[in-house]
Amino acid sequence: MIYDRALPRAERLRMPWARDVALEVAKQYGVCIRPVALKRIDLQTGQSEIIDVPCGATMAAVCPPCAQRNRQLRMAQCREGWHLDHEPAITPDEPNDEQRWLIEFRADMQARRDAAEQAEEDTTDLDAVLSGLDGEINAAGMRGNVLGRTTAKRTRSTRRRQDTPDLPRRKMADTTLGRTFTSSGGKVYRPSLFVTLTLPSYGKVRDGVPVDPETYDYARAARDALHFSKLVDRFVQNLRRVAGYDVQYFAAVEPQKRLAPHLHMAIRGTLPRTEIKQIAAATYHQVWWPPADQVVFDGEHLPVWDEQAGYVNPATGEVLPTWDEALDQLDADETAEPLHVIRFGTQMDVQGVLAGTPDADQCIRYLSKYLTKSLGESLSADNQSRRDHAARLAEALRFEPCSPTCANWLRYGIQPKGAKAGMAPGRCRGKAHKPEALGYAGRRVLVSRKWSNKTLAEHKQDRRTWVLEALGQPDQSPDPHRYVWKPVPAGDANVAPLAVRLLRTVAERQRWRAHMAQLEAQAAGQGLSATEQTARAA
Ligand SMILES: [Zn+2]
Ligand SMILES: [Zn+2]
Repeated sequence: MIYDRALPRAERLRMPWARDVALEVAKQYGVCIRPVALKRIDLQTGQSEIIDVPCGATMAAVCPPCAQRNRQLRMAQCREGWHLDHEPAITPDEPNDEQRWLIEFRADMQARRDAAEQAEEDTTDLDAVLSGLDGEINAAGMRGNVLGRTTAKRTRSTRRRQDTPDLPRRKMADTTLGRTFTSSGGKVYRPSLFVTLTLPSYGKVRDGVPVDPETYDYARAARDALHFSKLVDRFVQNLRRVAGYDVQYFAAVEPQKRLAPHLHMAIRGTLPRTEIKQIAAATYHQVWWPPADQVVFDGEHLPVWDEQAGYVNPATGEVLPTWDEALDQLDADETAEPLHVIRFGTQMDVQGVLAGTPDADQCIRYLSKYLTKSLGESLSADNQSRRDHAARLAEALRFEPCSPTCANWLRYGIQPKGAKAGMAPGRCRGKAHKPEALGYAGRRVLVSRKWSNKTLAEHKQDRRTWVLEALGQPDQSPDPHRYVWKPVPAGDANVAPLAVRLLRTVAERQRWRAHMAQLEAQAAGQGLSATEQTARAA
């Protein structure tokens, strides 16, 4: 690097930092700016190598270029499934290294826990580790529980079952594909739907802000946001019943200007518009949780933890009902009402879309519009009245129970499920209470199992294979058993400075791009359009 110490100070200060420049260049090239260095040990040769993995491939917070790339992958996934003309074949994926490692680690911890139990030692800590691991196992893309179902599922009295709304029902056909229509000229049309569903009104709004904050129903807005994903599940169930086939969808949850979540859904196949509207109007979800409308403990007057009994009333020493006891009480009470009933609002939009049209492309872009941002961030409040509105919603969410394990249950005199020391109402760490989540803790993208044949990881692999093919290099899908990945400790001397690593990746990307441009020029000569090429690459 040329760096002249003889330059006058003022001139030196005007020079940009090399590292900042490297970051800017990396962003331009869509290169991950927060790569994670991992050591890859080759079990066949015994050699190890340090490899930069894009942050987007890990579970960590994702940098802007990775977020952008993830959005591209989502768009490819959406495009591929929407107008599918053959049944997808579903086979579970081979487990990857991370999944294997998690399962092995869990087995190890289970053995330790069982040994501790045999020795009559306290297993509380190990139990906590195990339940945390189970969560991670699911987060790593594995379904179900390693041990199968460990506790008996609660059986609800039939009275409490969610009723099936009164809707027409077609006979179920064993297909995921929609109907096609053939024109008199023999052309086959494959229509599908793009549906937008919203939540009800909580009071009049103007430009995303309540006209009268005093009467705006923040409590209802908070509960609706918390249970929104359940309502979407019900809608899909009802949709499948009415449609009479295994309807597949790709949906994105996004915020409205008034900060309520709403849903855009690409649906494979078509139904009459009036039927979709009928289904949405008839769909509801009841939340059968204990009552949470009367504050029992507040301020300094809070339940106290007792190692033996759990949470007790600070004044009387009486043990608070556990989560299961509270549910039993609810079941026994003939006059009980659900804590909350959620429905869609009357504002909805249903569009018919034909495969491969500009309309379809526009819907796909629309579906992925906000995916690079968090719910709250995509609408960052630009003026005081909107910031106040966001603050009032966050306040309404602060004491609302977000789940059976939420610390807020203590406020209503109930021990949360899995109660432990140190819980306090208003201090639940659940994602739903975070201001940027706006009460919605679910996934932003909801993709049904038989949407495309592929998982996101497979779409990624597709892209890689295509690029390698285009470059005339063999795609050596490595044997998953061949490598072991280890984290590299911070400050490891074998890891080059970030700027150097970024520029290295940029150089690699430049080589690819030049080669791609060359191929594209050749293809153009053969009559293939550049967009067709990039569509394949995406
Ligand atoms: Zn990244
Ligand atoms: Zn909570």
